[in-house]
Amino acid sequence: MAIIGGGPAGYTAAIRGAEYGLKVALIDKSDRLGGTCLLVGCIPTKALLFNAEIWDHLQHAAEFGIGGIGTPTLDWAAVLKRKDAIITKHVKGLEFLMRKHKIATTKGYGRLTGPAVDGVHTVEVTTASGEVSQVSAKNVILATGSEAKLLPGLVADDRILTNIEILSLNQLPKSLVVIGAGAVGMEFASLFRTFGTEVSILEFLPRVVPVEDEEISKEMTRLYKKRGIEVNTGAKVETVEKTEGGVKVTYTDANGKAQVKEAEKVLVAVGRAGLTTNVGVDKTRVVVERGLVKVNEAQETAEPGVFAIGDIVAGMPQLAHVGSMSGMVAVAKIAGRKFRPIRHDRIPGCTYTEPQIGSVGLTEAQAKEKGHEVKVGKFPFAGNAKATIVGNHDGFVKIVSDAKYGEILGVHIIGPQATELIAEAVAVLELEGTVEEMMYTIHAHPTLAESLLDAYGSVEGMAINA
Ligand SMILES: Cc1cc2nc3c(=O)[nH]c(=O)nc-3n(C[C@H](O)[C@H](O)[C@H](O)COP(=O)(O)OP(=O)(O)OC[C@H]3O[C@@H](n4cnc5c(N)ncnc54)[C@H](O)[C@@H]3O)c2cc1C
Repeated sequence: MAIIGGGPAGYTAAIRGAEYGLKVALIDKSDRLGGTCLLVGCIPTKALLFNAEIWDHLQHAAEFGIGGIGTPTLDWAAVLKRKDAIITKHVKGLEFLMRKHKIATTKGYGRLTGPAVDGVHTVEVTTASGEVSQVSAKNVILATGSEAKLLPGLVADDRILTNIEILSLNQLPKSLVVIGAGAVGMEFASLFRTFGTEVSILEFLPRVVPVEDEEISKEMTRLYKKRGIEVNTGAKVETVEKTEGGVKVTYTDANGKAQVKEAEKVLVAVGRAGLTTNVGVDKTRVVVERGLVKVNEAQETAEPGVFAIGDIVAGMPQLAHVGSMSGMVAVAKIAGRKFRPIRHDRIPGCTYTEPQIGSVGLTEAQAKEKGHEVKVGKFPFAGNAKATIVGNHDGFVKIVSDAKYGEILGVHIIGPQATELIAEAVAVLELEGTVEEMMYTIHAHPTLAESLLDAYGSVEGMAINA
């Protein structure tokens, strides 16, 4: 098989294909494998957010009885250097894995030439220097990923930023307007606020992190405001202009009033567009809707032998772990192995802000919409001893369950280590666990995970620590 795109979706598919004994070619236009996730997405942002966490701890060193810190200073260049070293290490790791699995990697721009001829597809590959070659394969997987959407008329530069430019700023901005309060916008807002930047968020929808349970959005807004982040929801951005020293954003606020916000930089984080133009799908039966590819439960497109995985797939959250799993599904189908289609209601979502969010399954509103008789439990981290130990009491765990059999339908966590804690909940949903089963599942003490135990108990009004 041939895979176009070496991000988490594409490289996972390549490795799994080799594990199944398939002959695999992986084509990527970039000099480095890893895609958005490794080069300008998940990994660099989480690296910087970890720096922010350490910085935050240092501000409170005295509280923990640690003296001699004085006034910590931030060496931003060193912060970026560490981030870049992490990326390089993992790019090398991927190169090693490609060699280990004897995957033929080709650097160049891949394009399908059309439908298969006698069951064989052809991918035309053009290198940066213009050399053209061809890769033939029985099956082709499209894994070309996505890029940041900009507002109409805007071009990214050193002041109007997307996730790419903001990751290489040579200085911390004094002020930043973030347009869009999804995970990407919220994470950069959190990161720069920790380092002292004045941050204002403009979100068109009525709440931040709009895919999350409403109570999570509410708590997030409260805690961001407490951190000095300005949160404007229901805000419709009208124009973004450059001024002498920065940028000026005009918007209509939730009351319909015209407002102006000036800052040194603006981050546009209003979603991501699938990279599906100019990859040859127009010459095939592949169905593309609003830039995203329609697939069936085996990740097959309407063109026989052509699959699509990762961020370019319609109706799937654009997340690295969804991309890699969709790659594993596609390859299992190609290799004639058993596979389990991706269940949309069992995809964890993590936002690595301060406070963190980890969630899986149905929100309370979604569960009600689906006709469940919903029973909810909620436990605040304030009642958890480990949260006191780590000095972070903000947030809660919320359980959404079905009253009839007690099946757990959704778990929504905001607070310390939420992005790690959610793993238990994903397993619970995957195994169709009930509130009763989880109430009697022993959780080690003292752990943040015990807040889940108390949250399961709270569904029956039987939390111990609250
Ligand atoms: C700032 C930011 C933070 C994020 N944080 C997280 C996170 O914490 N957790 C999470 O799960 N997700 C996160 N994401 C989302 C995640 O990065 C994407 O969901 C993931 O990278 C998608 O993987 P992919 O393989 O489909 O596409 P990509 O990672 O975009 O990879 C696509 C690859 O295809 C190549 N390519 C494109 N067109 C062609 C062509 N025609 N020929 C050859 N090669 C081509 C590109 O060079 C690229 O290497 C984040 C995204 C951003 C922007």
